[in-house]
Amino acid sequence: MQNQLLKIAQKLAELGLNKGTSGNCSVRYEDGFLVTPSGMGVEDMTANSMVQMQLDGSFETSKKPSSEWRFHRDILLVRPEINAVIHTHSMFATTMACLHKDIPSFHYMIAVVAGDTIRCAPYALFGSQALSDYALAALADRKACLLANHGMIALGRDLEDALAVTVEVENLCEQYWRILQINPNPPLLNEQEMRDVFQQFKGYGKWAV
Ligand code: 13P
Ligand code: ZN
Repeated sequence: MQNQLLKIAQKLAELGLNKGTSGNCSVRYEDGFLVTPSGMGVEDMTANSMVQMQLDGSFETSKKPSSEWRFHRDILLVRPEINAVIHTHSMFATTMACLHKDIPSFHYMIAVVAGDTIRCAPYALFGSQALSDYALAALADRKACLLANHGMIALGRDLEDALAVTVEVENLCEQYWRILQINPNPPLLNEQEMRDVFQQFKGYGKWAV
């Protein structure tokens, strides 16, 4: 599992979704979870850099877990259906997050977050319990949220699913950013149209529920 987590961290860098030491990811493992190390670029990470944590917040003292271990831990504690968490500072999600913008139902693919909006959580200091509390609220019944003046969080039933949600959220944020240049009030899908999308998604590829 350490290798799988390393591969996802590498993939996020390869896709340009995280750069330098920005972002982190985690996966449920044994009786706790594995999380990427703090302040380390992927080029320096090995499978052995991954930090095993318990759900009470304890960890192997020879390693330093991501400064964001609190929201990784809190999400895994309250969302039993979620087994992987990805955090990025990717360009377009971060752009929208710095504008404190919720992403509305401007495109049907918003359904990949399991709701008809991507909420933006209020600003709080990176690594703080306040950030985790805000993120958890913004993630209620959703698989992704934006973090004001910071970035985004995407959730999945496994690492591949969380990566797919990350890629799609970034894509949606780029599309919405482009649309806003032309029309600050674009037409949105209504509740019934979104209900139909959720119905259609039940049998659609990797998004099937
Ligand atoms: P870490 O290197 O501690 O994981 O922090 C990166 C980050 O994105 C903080 O929000
Ligand atoms: Zn961050």
